[in-house]
Amino acid sequence: MGEQKPFCKMNYPRVPRALLEQVAAFFQRMDDDWFGEAAVILLHNPDTDEMKLLVPDQECSMGSVHYTIPNNIEPGWRMIGDIHSHVRMSAFASGVDVHDEVSRPGLHIVIGEIDKEPPDFHAEVVVDGMRFKANIEDVIEDYVARTSFPEEWMQKVKKKKWEWQGWRGGKHWWKGGAHDQLAD
Ligand SMILES: [Zn+2]
Repeated sequence: MGEQKPFCKMNYPRVPRALLEQVAAFFQRMDDDWFGEAAVILLHNPDTDEMKLLVPDQECSMGSVHYTIPNNIEPGWRMIGDIHSHVRMSAFASGVDVHDEVSRPGLHIVIGEIDKEPPDFHAEVVVDGMRFKANIEDVIEDYVARTSFPEEWMQKVKKKKWEWQGWRGGKHWWKGGAHDQLAD
């Protein structure tokens, strides 16, 4: 057999189906409301081997989501990764993602094509600042269909205001976080 891929050395269970289906419902709402990205943090309890989600306060826009990792994570739980939305784009690690995740070891899952069922999933793992593509079936349980999510998650979401940067090439140029956008 070939050599063990590095992500196999992360001894975490696969992300439970129920969590993924909640997250997909949340990301869909963000798309329905205003085509925004969003993110959740994955927590793992090494004593019980359970996983759960933490929704951080976040600033979301069409092309980006920004949050700081909360410093009040419950005792016994550790952050092992995150899941963020690419709204209707395909799921991949963008240049911005690679940049943001260099200093965040762990599992980084992207959900894209949220207007489809099932949506598109992509996962990469960062270990010692290096990235590895993960086989999605190795890191998540089988997804079936989006369900629902706690309404209070929406209170964590702040819509990022777009700043007008001026005229360029005869168009208004807006800056909305990570990705600049041209708008008529
Ligand atoms: Zn991304």
